[in-house]
Amino acid sequence: MTCQVETTDLEAPTRRRAGAGLRGLSTSEVPRAEKFALMRTGELGSMHSWELVTAVDGPGTRMTMFLSGCPLRCLYCHNPDTFAMKDGDPVLADEVLARIKRYRGVFSATNGGITLSGGEVLMQPAFAGRILRGAKEMGVHTCIDTSGFLGANASDEMLDDVDLVLLDIKAGDEETYQRVTSRSLAPTIAFGRRLAELGKKVWVRFVLVPGLTDDPRNVELVAGHAAAIEAVRPGTVERVEVLPFHQMARDKWAELGRTYELGDTEPPTPEATEAVRNVFRAEGLTTF
Ligand code: SF4
Repeated sequence: MTCQVETTDLEAPTRRRAGAGLRGLSTSEVPRAEKFALMRTGELGSMHSWELVTAVDGPGTRMTMFLSGCPLRCLYCHNPDTFAMKDGDPVLADEVLARIKRYRGVFSATNGGITLSGGEVLMQPAFAGRILRGAKEMGVHTCIDTSGFLGANASDEMLDDVDLVLLDIKAGDEETYQRVTSRSLAPTIAFGRRLAELGKKVWVRFVLVPGLTDDPRNVELVAGHAAAIEAVRPGTVERVEVLPFHQMARDKWAELGRTYELGDTEPPTPEATEAVRNVFRAEGLTTF
């Protein structure tokens, strides 16, 4: 979702964000009419890939699943091949849960769990809800990684099965948010407040992109939004992750024939990144 985190995939150690495929999750050859019916009930979902990662996407070792479909069009998106739900592969929730069951020992030994990412996990609330429920029934820690734009799609019942939300706040004002994502910021802020009211734990994520999101006023506004969520219920925002922009997505945009507007953008310096982290610290937030 945030798409700027560098990972170590335990099964195929490489430096990239997107998952390595659907290893072991056989895609389902389901007739079209039946497919839509199963997607409505959440028995079937559209998935890009999954991977096992450590120390990203939540605590411990995690099975991160990248669902297909996203309503945003972030200029720095690292997974532009997840934009369209139709481009994902159909996967049965039961197969996903069987795979989660296999890793229960790893999750329990590392205080890890599962993370539903994307794309946008809340594009497929029924499928996500089924996986989250099944994981909780196995005693597995659950996390969703979301922009919050579709927060209204998450029922309170579904959120009961979510232990941690990685909430991307991609910009601090409507104008910048629109430029970064082509969408509106307000639903994300409303979702953050609702999460706090529900007593959920939140890790805020912010991607620092020189020339796009690094304006001091924008950074201050993002920090203000995070602090406002924390103020609703102290202890909600456990941490803020400031993620420095990198160019690892450039080739993928080119392969897809899409225009990549950030081709000439340099990553922020470590000093600039640390200075932004200090803005969040000044709001009393714990920042990495
Ligand atoms: S919200 Fe969607 S467009 Fe934005 S970075 Fe995540 S997957 Fe890409």
